[in-house]
Amino acid sequence: MEIAVLASGSKGNALYLASGKTSFLIDAGLSAREIEKRLSLLNRTAASLSAILVSHEHADHIRGVGPLARRYNLPVYITEKTYVAAEGALKHLPHVEYIDPDTPFEIGAFWFSPFLVSHDAVEPLGFSLTDGTLKVGIATDLGVITQLVRENMRGSHIAIVEFNHDPDMLMDGPYPWDLKQRIKGRRGHLSNPTAAKFVETIFHRDLERVVLAHLSETNNTPEMALRCLMEKGPCRVAAEQVVVARPDRPVQVL
Ligand SMILES: [Zn+2]
Ligand SMILES: [Zn+2]
Repeated sequence: MEIAVLASGSKGNALYLASGKTSFLIDAGLSAREIEKRLSLLNRTAASLSAILVSHEHADHIRGVGPLARRYNLPVYITEKTYVAAEGALKHLPHVEYIDPDTPFEIGAFWFSPFLVSHDAVEPLGFSLTDGTLKVGIATDLGVITQLVRENMRGSHIAIVEFNHDPDMLMDGPYPWDLKQRIKGRRGHLSNPTAAKFVETIFHRDLERVVLAHLSETNNTPEMALRCLMEKGPCRVAAEQVVVARPDRPVQVL
């Protein structure tokens, strides 16, 4: 399996996964041109993608979805409610496949189990997926860790988890009061300590990589997120197993 985070953070998110002949993006929140550029840095092309999956309708997750889908005639996997909410931004799509949030589905070499997360969008999803050899769990853009999130992320060999903000930096930072409340609320974003404790609960011997994702550029730093995981998370995670996703460049995970 190949995994690369093309971009992560409030300015744009896109995750590239491939196994065998199947490859896809989860979210495409940069411009189509920027996604093409970042794929080419990895010697990959958008033309060979099998699909784009959409987690939720926020602009930092869907900006490039419509243009890429039209340019390369790609199917877009999305829940019906998210599609309705995003239709104005996505515009015409050549091929839409509806995701039911409770029903697993298959794309080529991969099996996907979507799961609902708590976030200020109409029907936001996390994903656990496998190509039969490795399990990948993706939980970004969520305000709390629910039992459903824990169950779906458990056993992941690769855990991609939101480390959005340092609580003190958020509260002392420049955001207006209501935005601070939204971010730290149940339908907002995960703080470093909450995410680190969560990684502790899903740690197992075969956990290969932890990816710290969706870091705020205003209310967090890669060093603070990493330090929090190493201090508050499972002490058995080694530094070389941890990858910090970046907003400005692709990062290869596997
Ligand atoms: Zn986001
Ligand atoms: Zn969001």
